[in-house]
Amino acid sequence: MGRRKDKWLPTRSKYASWSATNPICLWCSNSREINVHAIRDCPQIVAIWKAFLNPSDRALFFNLSTMHWIGWNLQRNYNFASISWPSIFSVACGLIWHWKNEKHFDADFQIPNEVHKVILYHTKVHDEAWRPSEEDRGTSCDNDKAWRKPMLGWIKVNTDGAVCRSSRKAGCGGIIRDNYGNWIKGFVSNLGYASVLSAEIWGIYHGLVTAWNLGFRKVELESDSSQAIKMIQMLREAGSNLRPLQHKISSFLASDWEVKATHIPRNANGCANTIAKHSLASSIGFNMLDNHPSVVVSVMLRDANNSIIHDPVG
Ligand SMILES: [Zn+2]
Repeated sequence: MGRRKDKWLPTRSKYASWSATNPICLWCSNSREINVHAIRDCPQIVAIWKAFLNPSDRALFFNLSTMHWIGWNLQRNYNFASISWPSIFSVACGLIWHWKNEKHFDADFQIPNEVHKVILYHTKVHDEAWRPSEEDRGTSCDNDKAWRKPMLGWIKVNTDGAVCRSSRKAGCGGIIRDNYGNWIKGFVSNLGYASVLSAEIWGIYHGLVTAWNLGFRKVELESDSSQAIKMIQMLREAGSNLRPLQHKISSFLASDWEVKATHIPRNANGCANTIAKHSLASSIGFNMLDNHPSVVVSVMLRDANNSIIHDPVG
């Protein structure tokens, strides 16, 4: 596995590549803390995964390359304690990453007792929030449909809308990433009641405003709503007769910057999709996310790794 693959999240190994900090894993004090060590291969972490795995699956689980490992887990048709494995896997990756960061700031921090119960508890809570669109969990690792890193000098904004089928409550969310697939910023907005298209358009609006306010002037904007992207493209030429939100987006697009708006398949928009679902549980209105929610870690991992394969220059 190439060193480049270590660049997507700020592990201690990555810090150590440009500073004088210690790259050694804080759990085992034994290995360089590259990503796959931090999230799978550290002896402390191996013990967590083993509690969930059939002995017959262990060899495969611990030997797959990072990208295949994530793809295999996210697609796996397996339940543990009646909960789907892809859910447990996503939440476990997020928690393991979170605990690593806790340890970084507090040397006395320990992984909780009965850790698999803690993971199952968080997965159940998380699944409640996800239920609205459980069936559109598209996790194929088809590389033609994978998320791609933005071009050099550009950032990428992925946005999505979510509407709960039972409550009809709507929200949107988005994620801004750099050339390595690293998190820059994210946002959620709980919209109250709105149509699916309107939630998608609000997501695009907030994504543009957030990118502009952060000072980015070369922005690749992606949404899995072809209608919303068509509308954005029409707005570039449109003049009057627009609804207020469309008018705001139209004037924004006319500002002094470059925005490329592209429709992508839902499978390539997994991070924004996950974040948008979480907007339904957040307080009404716009909320900026400085740190990535733990549930998005596994999808970010998959995106960053898929994306590196696409870009030999990367
Ligand atoms: Zn370790």
